[in-house]
Amino acid sequence: MKSETCSKCGSNKIIHNTKIVDFGHGNAQKDLSVRIKTTDKTFFNKFERGQLKADICGSCGHTELSVNNPHELWQAHLKAKSL
Ligand SMILES: [Zn+2]
Repeated sequence: MKSETCSKCGSNKIIHNTKIVDFGHGNAQKDLSVRIKTTDKTFFNKFERGQLKADICGSCGHTELSVNNPHELWQAHLKAKSL
C-alpha cells in the first residue's frame, strides 16, 4: 500500500518505511510493535509480533502506519479468537 502522495494534503514528499522506536531507560531504542496473544495460559504466553513502520508526509506530518507481517498477524488473530 505504498502511496506516492499524501492522502491528506496531496504532497509527494513521503518518507517511506520509517522505523518507530521507543526510547527507554538510558536511551535504549526499542522498535514499537503490535502483538497478538496466541496461547491462553496464566504465564508464559506466546505472542505474534508485528513491527510498526510509518510513512510520513514531509509537508503536513500526516503519518500512516503499517506492519511487515499482516498475514502472520491475521493467522494469530484467528487463533486467538478460537482460544
Ligand atoms: Zn501531507
